[in-house]
Amino acid sequence: MSRLRSTISLAPVAYNLAMIRRQERLPHAEQLRIQSRLLRELVRHAHADVPHYRRTLTAAQVEGVRTAHDLAGLPTLDRLTLHDAPARDMLAAGFTTENTRAATTSGSSGIPITVRNSERDLGYLRATYLQDMLANGLRPTDRIAYFRVMSFLRHPLERFGILRNHHIRTDRPLDEQVEAFLAARPTFLIGFPNVIASIVDELKRRGVTHEGVRTVLFGGERLTPTARAHVLDYFGASHREVYASVEVFTIARTCPAGSMHLRTSDLVVEVEHDDGTVSVEDGVGEILVTRLRSEAMPLIRYRLGDRVRISPNDCPCGVATTPIVREVVGRSQDRIVAADGRRYYGDFISTVIQDFSQVVRLQILQPRPGAVEVLVILSGDAPDDVTADIEREVRRRAPGLDVTVRRTHRITPEANGKIKLVKVLTPTGERAPSGGPASAEGGPLPQKGRMSDVAEGND
Ligand SMILES: [Zn+2]
Repeated sequence: MSRLRSTISLAPVAYNLAMIRRQERLPHAEQLRIQSRLLRELVRHAHADVPHYRRTLTAAQVEGVRTAHDLAGLPTLDRLTLHDAPARDMLAAGFTTENTRAATTSGSSGIPITVRNSERDLGYLRATYLQDMLANGLRPTDRIAYFRVMSFLRHPLERFGILRNHHIRTDRPLDEQVEAFLAARPTFLIGFPNVIASIVDELKRRGVTHEGVRTVLFGGERLTPTARAHVLDYFGASHREVYASVEVFTIARTCPAGSMHLRTSDLVVEVEHDDGTVSVEDGVGEILVTRLRSEAMPLIRYRLGDRVRISPNDCPCGVATTPIVREVVGRSQDRIVAADGRRYYGDFISTVIQDFSQVVRLQILQPRPGAVEVLVILSGDAPDDVTADIEREVRRRAPGLDVTVRRTHRITPEANGKIKLVKVLTPTGERAPSGGPASAEGGPLPQKGRMSDVAEGND
């Protein structure tokens, strides 16, 4: 049984990094073969060694799994079940809370989740993050600015004089963030889009021209195309993005041509459609993820809570060969309740709003069923009557919804730094209880878009 190390060792990271880089360049069919082999091993391991899966899977089900398509017969794992399960029920034999490290999601979904990783899992995790940055154009000479709430352990490679990290604390006042940013003179930015956009706004307001940022790697909540262009144009930087989560590491990341390719050799991604059918790496619906390299706490068919749209690879990049995540169409919790009780996905409305090029940022507040108040931050040259135009378009899309659109200059992020697309308000106008502490317990990492060592979270 492995023990947790108190220092980060470089050898496993280098070894895993080489393997990840090799596998990601394989043709899709070969990655699927690796996926099938790892999946069979994982399901057997889970059934043999994890109490939860010994109870919920039958031997016949386990034997029946040959490829990802065979997973459809197995139960899914939702966040609430995982949240409520005692660690001993989910941990594989030989692993305990002492010899694994916890990573906790922010709870922005309302249900904070703690996953536990072994030292071997962590070696793979770190290599994955490093590859996220390398594949997105990181050079050894880059100065990286992480925009995040809490502090983190320094990366081991920093000690070798490369990968200099600068932490821009997003829980500090904006002026302080801007000063930290200017002092760091970063060339590679990593963080939540809305946080980076706020800094750009302030730099522009001050009339500061800032050169030298080559790449902005976005993770976390989605940005309107206008807001994204606003950030990238200011820096003259290229746009890169990762789709990741604390529980399953990196699911997809952009290639040089800007497509978000799936990481087929490391994860099984299923899409559950609204009619209940499931397809592998294809279609629109709720994403189910099985992270294949996970010895301490295997999660099979895990409901991450996002809706995605995935389609076959038609990317001209020539680098990646896997299907492409076209859109992460929002957490399935980001839903608006109509007066008749029906639920709309927030994106149903937000896509209409984003079509207005003057909209820089937006948030949909729901004070009561059947009513929404849309907050929009508009570009400086936007005419005042644009809010009326937006209101009309939203009503056309969602008749029966009581819609008001209000122009604002600030949308308040949640404690974890992210802006919720849909925020349900209690009758007093307060935010509904989120059901858990935000990043308090050892997850310096947000639910999604963490780009650094999630697993180095204090335990
Ligand atoms: Zn590509």
